[in-house]
Amino acid sequence: MRISRITVWQLDLPLSEPYFLSGGRLRFDRLDSTIVRIDTDDGLSGWGEACPWGHTYLPAHGPGVRAGLNILAPAVIGLDPRSLDHLNAVMDVTLPGHGYVKSAIDMACWDIYGKAADMPLWQCLGGAMATPVAINSSISTGTPEEMLALIRKASADGYKVHSAKIGGTDIALDIARIDAISSALPADESVTFDVNRAWQPAAAVQVLNAVASRDWVEQPCETLDQCAHVADRVPQPIMLDECMLGFQDHIDAWKRNACNGVKVKPNRLGGLTRARQVRDFGVSVGWQMHVEDVGGSALADTAAIHLAASTPDANRLASWLCHYHLAIDPTAGQGARNTDGFATPPSIPGLGVTPDPDIIGDPVATYETSV
Ligand code: MG
Repeated sequence: MRISRITVWQLDLPLSEPYFLSGGRLRFDRLDSTIVRIDTDDGLSGWGEACPWGHTYLPAHGPGVRAGLNILAPAVIGLDPRSLDHLNAVMDVTLPGHGYVKSAIDMACWDIYGKAADMPLWQCLGGAMATPVAINSSISTGTPEEMLALIRKASADGYKVHSAKIGGTDIALDIARIDAISSALPADESVTFDVNRAWQPAAAVQVLNAVASRDWVEQPCETLDQCAHVADRVPQPIMLDECMLGFQDHIDAWKRNACNGVKVKPNRLGGLTRARQVRDFGVSVGWQMHVEDVGGSALADTAAIHLAASTPDANRLASWLCHYHLAIDPTAGQGARNTDGFATPPSIPGLGVTPDPDIIGDPVATYETSV
């Protein structure tokens, strides 16, 4: 089986409401998604999506996905999409770095791999069953009252796990946010306070030693060094996210005892193949993980939920669904959706999601085997 054609679509994904991170420092109104279909010479096709969260969140941006595909697509045409490690090695030689570009190709090849094997992705990735995965809400930064209102709305939608976005220059306000949310949560709900790099190390140590909460705190500062400094000086378990760009970062974090868990995001790490490697490392060292993607429609969400569902219960905390925040749905009714706070991956062969051609429109690029 050989890759014979790669077709690329650009899709604007407007958010239902503006979204604020990092104490309001970062605002998001729409996402720029790239959807890819890979066709093979024996008739199987696979779908992938790469959707950075805007261009200010990570060193990744929507137009960069299409520019990178222009380099990578010709290099992978003619390869067997089921030889995923080889395919990733070819991509790494062709374009070092730029994992967020590679994730779309890698995801589409996993879809083909599952269809060829006649197995759903959760099984291809090592899972025993289509485990329902706990879903966490994502609570935009605001005043304590605004954030509590969003948490109550999410609770009504079935969410029992919340990710509350905090962090800013006003230390007293962050202490107030943490204290208000922690004390108001019902006993059967939990929260992670996601700082999204907003604190300087001294502020992180000050805030986290002033609050009563012993909930998870995520990415308190910009760099791994700064987060390791904080982890050594606060009582809360630390989750790392944005500073983890490659496998080496995970080894470094583990050696330095800088965290108790990580966010495993295929688009940040370079695709499902790289995300699976990180997941397996995390299981080996006893980390607890959130497996979810950086952004995108239910296509990208579902790929991540397959990986989450194949992760041992003891190592899996919860997953976030980006499509919950979008005003459009190019894969209506398909894939992993929130049902009473849980999402279950499809059990049909492959990824189990096919975008609606009427919504994704005309492709922006097509790459084909030259005859
Ligand atoms: Mg985060």
